[in-house]
Amino acid sequence: MADEVPGQASRTPLPGDSAYAAPGGPVARADARAASAATPRTPTIEEISAELDVLESMSGYNIEAAYDRAVELERISEGLCETVLALRAKLVQVDVQIRWGELASVVPVMWQVNAWAVANGCRPLLARSHLLMARAYWELADMASVLEHMVSSMEALDESTLPRIRLTHLMKLADALDETGSVEASRERYRQAERLAATIDVERHVTVLNNLAYAEYKAGRYDVAWEVVERLLAISEMGGYEPDPLIMDTVSRVQIALGHYPEAVMAAQTGVLMHESQELTHATILPEVLLTLALAQRHMGDTKNAQKSLDRSRMICEEHGYTRILVQVRQEQAELHAASNDYRRAFEAYKVYHATEKELVSIQQEARARTRQAMFEAAEARQEAELFREQARRDPLTGLRNRRYVDEHLPAILTDAAATGGSVTIALVDLDHFKRINDTCSHDVGDQVLVAISGMLEAVPAGATPGFAARMGGEEFLLVMAGVTPTEAVARLEDLRASVAARSWRSITGDLPVTVSIGITASQADSTQAELLALADANLYTAKHKGRNRVCATSGATGASLFPAVPSDRRRHRDAPPPPAAG
Ligand code: GH3
Ligand code: MG
Ligand code: MG
Repeated sequence: MADEVPGQASRTPLPGDSAYAAPGGPVARADARAASAATPRTPTIEEISAELDVLESMSGYNIEAAYDRAVELERISEGLCETVLALRAKLVQVDVQIRWGELASVVPVMWQVNAWAVANGCRPLLARSHLLMARAYWELADMASVLEHMVSSMEALDESTLPRIRLTHLMKLADALDETGSVEASRERYRQAERLAATIDVERHVTVLNNLAYAEYKAGRYDVAWEVVERLLAISEMGGYEPDPLIMDTVSRVQIALGHYPEAVMAAQTGVLMHESQELTHATILPEVLLTLALAQRHMGDTKNAQKSLDRSRMICEEHGYTRILVQVRQEQAELHAASNDYRRAFEAYKVYHATEKELVSIQQEARARTRQAMFEAAEARQEAELFREQARRDPLTGLRNRRYVDEHLPAILTDAAATGGSVTIALVDLDHFKRINDTCSHDVGDQVLVAISGMLEAVPAGATPGFAARMGGEEFLLVMAGVTPTEAVARLEDLRASVAARSWRSITGDLPVTVSIGITASQADSTQAELLALADANLYTAKHKGRNRVCATSGATGASLFPAVPSDRRRHRDAPPPPAAG
């Protein structure tokens, strides 16, 4: 067994370890601490935003304080009616909760923020919600989903994205590509990330190289990993940056892999000392460096100190429930006994290792199942909401769009047409003597006529984009047609009128005829919805007044007739009866 890699999941940023990936080492951490010791006065919007900037790029250190502060910032932002800031603060809490392993409970929150971001076109929040979903899936070791969300989050970034934020996303994408076996694509992203990080600061540059080195180490390319480590150390030194325990851990791992055991022990010891002197509370780094130290010490033949380091690591893992690292500790324990030629205890330790690993797998499976369920429920709720929104904009009897849809969509159609110099044709279609049908036949028959007419109306705007048919109320309908000339639109509406009159209604209404009158107008550059509806209504009144079963169409601006000067072939060959004489 390749004991150089005890357990695969380490350097790349598991949420609990995201100091590996999230740029924001000592400097940002110090900022976060200062920010957490907040002044009692209410911060300004700019101050809240700046503070959230820091919290969003936090590493795995001192996350409890970050959580408390994010709760406070959410409350303050809500008080200021700053929804975006409040949602950003909410996502900082989600970030921490993911690191705590509270996945199922944060899923609905992430989707809510995501849906809000989509509805309001808020790209930064959209990008961030996808990033956090990727982190949640990372925790579940579902790398395909991680990749999917990272691609979505990258798409949401634009030119206004801060380099620091773009870097966080690039890194996570590189890590995800690496984990899913797309090594070349991953290396390309690391290269991009490195170029970007170099323009920001030494700390971020070093963080990128740390992740890259670890990716190469895991891929078994130890020489390449070492080249990256050397570059990392040179850049740190040049920039006066002191590497943190995570970096020392990487250095030690690569040294072990290359057989440089004394150097490996030194690097890991340095990491442990750094951790102790910096008073940092990071979830998992200390037990990890101690494990690496034990490994290096065993290779040196120093089994006594290796056991001490390992015991310390194990105690921390047991105390905090770091099962993933505990599995690696158990495995190393078996190796250590074997190195001391105590094969009976090595075998016993191996069995414990095996049991712990099984326990980890079942913990992960359970978390995965719960999260999937939450994801599923959130998706269903979203679909229901969409369906409800759609239904609320349709007329239940005919299935046509309703007045609400018209009010929501027509103004934009008019604006767009005006911007491109086009015209929108608006037609009000009203059934003639409909009351008579209700009274003579029945209300039910009236309904059947309305449904049948709706089917005919729906076909009219086909090909006119945008275009739609709506029921405005009772037996009055609206047709909107853009992307076709008013002349063409009027010709189609005249066809509609003739088709209604020509259709056999006997099976529904018996002897009673069914006809419609139509009032039409076309928009000008500055037409409003209200003006156009009033003009169409006036023309409808004229059509009724002139005897019904006819079309009256005038241009809004000039009042000139919109009828084609020469009837089209279609109109000449129409087999509908001619409209009755005006009355
Ligand atoms: P006009 O030619 O002048 O338009 O005459 P009309 O009878 O069509 O117009 P009026 O406005 O006098 O009557 C419309 C009728 O439509 C009255 C109302 O009972 C009926 N109506 C409105 N909504 C519905 C509905 O959903 N179903 C049925 N069956 N009838 C409806
Ligand atoms: Mg009517
Ligand atoms: Mg009417």
